[in-house]
Amino acid sequence: MKLSRYLLDSLDALGIGVCEYDEQMRALCWNQTFLQLFPEDEGEIYVGEPYADNLVRFYQRRLSREEMPEIARHVAEGVTRHENQTQPFEFIHNGRKLRASSLRAPDGGRVRLWQRLDVESHSETAPELVLPVMDALRFIPDGASILDAKERVIAANNAFRRLYDLPKGTPVVGRTLDEIIAWCWREASPAGAWRAAISNGLRYDGVPFEIELPGQRWLRLIARHSTGGVSFFTHADITAAKRQQMELLEAQEALRRANVALAELAETDGLTGLANHRRFVARLADASARREPLSLLMIDADHFKTINDRFGHLVGDACLKAIAEVIAAQITSASALVARVGGEEFGVLLGDTPIEAAQEVATAIRRALRRVPWRLLHSELTGVTVSIGLCAGEGPLDGTSLHARADEALYAAKRNGRDRIEMASPPAASRRIAG
Ligand code: GH3
Ligand code: MG
Ligand code: MG
Repeated sequence: MKLSRYLLDSLDALGIGVCEYDEQMRALCWNQTFLQLFPEDEGEIYVGEPYADNLVRFYQRRLSREEMPEIARHVAEGVTRHENQTQPFEFIHNGRKLRASSLRAPDGGRVRLWQRLDVESHSETAPELVLPVMDALRFIPDGASILDAKERVIAANNAFRRLYDLPKGTPVVGRTLDEIIAWCWREASPAGAWRAAISNGLRYDGVPFEIELPGQRWLRLIARHSTGGVSFFTHADITAAKRQQMELLEAQEALRRANVALAELAETDGLTGLANHRRFVARLADASARREPLSLLMIDADHFKTINDRFGHLVGDACLKAIAEVIAAQITSASALVARVGGEEFGVLLGDTPIEAAQEVATAIRRALRRVPWRLLHSELTGVTVSIGLCAGEGPLDGTSLHARADEALYAAKRNGRDRIEMASPPAASRRIAG
């Protein structure tokens, strides 16, 4: 067994010195903190050095001149302790109070750990517990990282490296999460959205939050903060779930758009492209519900049956389209609605329009119809006229009665000879106005 580099670095970050020995008590590996706690080993210790030689250096530093003849006994006791130690013990070395623990490695070797007790430590846990916990992190499939109070990584497992695409050997310990993610985004445009996501996410302890990485990858982070300022993060790759979720949202949006188009289609007249009867009725009902004053023009083509009979249905259709275009062209107000309410019958709902203005619209429609080059539709077609019934609502009005009164005015126009405008006003009475 040999402790991984990541584990040695992690223990450094926690301020724990470590040195591992094989089953023949030869030094295998150690970390920076070990050399700080035992400066006498700096430049002296080497891989394969017998533990006894290490102890000789240790006691040469500790024993007084008078005690020095006893050094062999001290070293022998130290070797025995090394082999049998089960409980941590405390001692002072180079003026520092240390707590030494010894763990038996599965292959018979030993891992010795030293924690300083005279300074505040990152770890609230005994080193002999920290080591297996840290080591266990390696086997967790999700990314795991431990951050200090300044949000610098103390330890991170291999999955963490993989998730953040950190090449082998890139130092992670000592970096902030912000630095690591910024490094991930180094080549992509720095959207910075993840920064907001993190600062937002960190406001709630233990609540998952999501960040985006380049290549449309998504991670879900959960942060747990300890009272000592150290926090534990898990990082899970949720790209597949996120993609599924986004596909679902896209499908929902497409469905919504299709529904809007379908609703539009359901209220549109296929021949002329105007609003159909359904929309006309809905709009009228809507306006009366809101007690909104309206003016209404009901327009019916004169003797249209004859046009169909003489020139055929296709010419009839073309005439209806031309009439629709003429009517629509006279309506400038965005709040007005032009609809084909029946076969050769049209309705125009004008917003709150004075009666004079409504009359002008009706007159303009009749005039414009005279200017249509009807002969282009059929050489013998000289003209198409319409009869118009007009009802101007003054003040809040009931849509049904408005419609009925405009219809009555239209019938009056037909009765009175067609190709004219009749106005329904006052209620139930109609009078002819000049066209
Ligand atoms: P009036 O002046 O009294 O309105 O006479 P009219 O012939 O226009 O009225 P009538 O209600 O007797 O006939 C309406 C005609 O409109 C009958 C029908 O063939 C025609 N029509 C209705 N819808 C369409 C259509 O979509 N295309 C064509 N080409 N003709 C249609
Ligand atoms: Mg007609
Ligand atoms: Mg009709």
